[in-house]
Amino acid sequence: MSRFFSRNFASLTPYTPGEQPKARQFVKLNTNESPFPPAPGVAVAVAEQAGKLQLYSDPEIAALRARLAETYGVTPGQVICVNGSDEVLNFAFMAFADEKSPLAFPDLTYGFYPVFAQLNRIPYEQIPLMDDFSINAEDYTGINKTIVIANPNAPTGLYLPLSEIEGIVASNPDNVVIIDEAYIDFGGESAISLVSKYDNLLVTQTFSKSRSMAGARLGFGIGSEKLIADLNTIRYSTNPYNVNRMTEAAGVAALDDTAYFEANCRTIMENRAWTTKALEALGFTVLPSMANFVFAKTDAIDGGTLYAKLKERGILVRHFTKDRIRDFNRITIGTLDQMKTLVCAIEAILKEVQP
Ligand code: PMP
Repeated sequence: MSRFFSRNFASLTPYTPGEQPKARQFVKLNTNESPFPPAPGVAVAVAEQAGKLQLYSDPEIAALRARLAETYGVTPGQVICVNGSDEVLNFAFMAFADEKSPLAFPDLTYGFYPVFAQLNRIPYEQIPLMDDFSINAEDYTGINKTIVIANPNAPTGLYLPLSEIEGIVASNPDNVVIIDEAYIDFGGESAISLVSKYDNLLVTQTFSKSRSMAGARLGFGIGSEKLIADLNTIRYSTNPYNVNRMTEAAGVAALDDTAYFEANCRTIMENRAWTTKALEALGFTVLPSMANFVFAKTDAIDGGTLYAKLKERGILVRHFTKDRIRDFNRITIGTLDQMKTLVCAIEAILKEVQP
């Protein structure tokens, strides 16, 4: 730390992104990316905009907002586009949470929530998940706090039915409830359908997972026009050109190819079912996932050792060291070939440790 670093941030522990190795070619199952390239139209759209990079992007992001509004049955005024959904989460924390309306989220969830809370100096409560790692909706009923719930949750992959989400939103009418739907396209039902009914609901989604565009950095939020206007006050006060013109065009092209999107989501769900079965056959406990990853453990080998042994064999998964989940690994669902490589490697490792 330099002697110039503001004391405001001296105790901040930044978010640790998953490894992005450069030296070696890994089977990369550690950051929940899609194994498929973006829709074919995306590269064409990006190339077209690359020749216009001397011009600023559209601060209103009008074309993409209109296309998202059409896709999700809302008005363009109910949509904000951002540089990865991380950005809208940060904006929402800044806009809607403070001492009077502190944050509440599960103790085991997306690791960026406490970081954004600390960054913005917002008090937060971490509500323990149940023993089976599920979220108990009652813990969030009428608590008068700014609530953020990843649905499906990460790193567990567990999904909370929409009726329970609605109960949480309805019982906290004077606080904003943020539903982070980064993984909703892999089998869950989106809360976007509730946005017209509840003015305190903000739903966030991303193009990083189901639309194979993690490298483009594109996310969006959908909520009442007033909530979106508040988020735009923050956006225009930080970076009005937050979505560059190549990314905006890429987003429109991705939304234009529904068939490609749906086929990829279906394949991931099929590969998830295959992987779950294969791991269970090897003695693993696999939480029932509605995301593009599974969270799995076995008594035969501890989570950290399995992670390290897989890495030696050229396979990257994600291991977390928090007490309650250190036995687990989070494994991104890739192509069937990648999942077969993973399962073969795990089989070999298990033979090594229990000959
Ligand atoms: N929410 C959750 C639960 C996530 O796992 C991620 C991905 N790390 C994000 C939000 C952010 O995704 P992005 O910024 O790529 O849209």
